[in-house]
Amino acid sequence: EQRVFSGVQPTGNLHLGNYLGAITKFVALQQDYDCIYCVVDLHAITQDREIWGGPEGLRSSTRQVTAAFLAAGVDAEKHIIFNQSQVCAHSELAWIFNCVARIGWLNRMTQFKEKAGKHRENASVGLYAYPTLMAADILAYRATHVPVGEDQKQHLELARNIAQKFNVDFAESAAERGYPDGFFPLPEPLIGETAARIMSLRDGEKKMSKSDPSDMSRINLTDDADAIAKKIRKAKTDPEPLPSELEGLEERAEARNLVGIYAALADQTSAQVLEEHGGATFATFKAALAELAIEKLAPVNAEMRRLMADPGHIDAILTDGARRAREIADPNMNIIKDIVGFIGH
Ligand code: ATP
Ligand code: MG
Repeated sequence: EQRVFSGVQPTGNLHLGNYLGAITKFVALQQDYDCIYCVVDLHAITQDREIWGGPEGLRSSTRQVTAAFLAAGVDAEKHIIFNQSQVCAHSELAWIFNCVARIGWLNRMTQFKEKAGKHRENASVGLYAYPTLMAADILAYRATHVPVGEDQKQHLELARNIAQKFNVDFAESAAERGYPDGFFPLPEPLIGETAARIMSLRDGEKKMSKSDPSDMSRINLTDDADAIAKKIRKAKTDPEPLPSELEGLEERAEARNLVGIYAALADQTSAQVLEEHGGATFATFKAALAELAIEKLAPVNAEMRRLMADPGHIDAILTDGARRAREIADPNMNIIKDIVGFIGH
């Protein structure tokens, strides 16, 4: 059986990277898989409170991410959309995985190093343990495929290592309960060819991020046409015109990023974009890119606004999704607890 699981944090400022790198991929996978898409609110609170915005901010971002899933075309009836904290299995399995994963494994995680910054002693324990919770998110459903951006590749690798170690540590116990190959599948990342890593508009070496303090660094899904046009116009570039061949983009991170964004929005390859726009100045290319971005994002933006005007409806979708998510995760948790040796399951 094949199942897709993925999550997006309600940390405000959903952006073009989330949309092209994750959410549009979520939509495409619905054809071929049973999909579970989670608004990972437990993950959001691992970061500083200014980032997730306190209780009111968390509620409103949770609804915003849900609205983005729906507006992009996720079908909440055929598939499942819910917020993580409504399903206890995530936290319970994360604890078990905290006892499976090794400190040495977590110490290698680059996201923790980036997010904790210089004041590592001051980071939350939750931020450090983020990857074990992410492994639990996926494996509580025994999901086999996980669509993510490039930045999550290392966490997925860790989830596979955790699944593998659990399977080995509890091989006998699992076999006695009818799982001779171990209880967990090793989940595979699905990382797109295009838009796997959209970069900041201010710095071509940094990924576009919700938590970047500069709003000019990203195009938010809630930005109106004027804001989108302005951010693209002001995006950092070099003075050379666009090359006609891909090789000409090497060493030009900002140019490569804008071409990549154009390609993902137009559903083309970067090479095709250069065939058409090679030789153009950035003034010309940015105008074309702004027009395309506005054309593609305006309908999503409008639908998100429409949905967010009725928070009760969004909350009902999350609660219904959580009920259906529990129907999958709870029986799995009973088996997992029994495999570990906890009495009563
Ligand atoms: P934060 O800065 O709070 O971590 P984020 O922008 O990284 O926010 P997440 O909620 O952590 O967003 O990630 C949601 C999904 O979006 C993940 O699959 C992640 O890989 C993907 N993603 C995030 N940023 C980008 C990006 N710049 N390009 C492509 N995909 C991205
Ligand atoms: Mg992130």
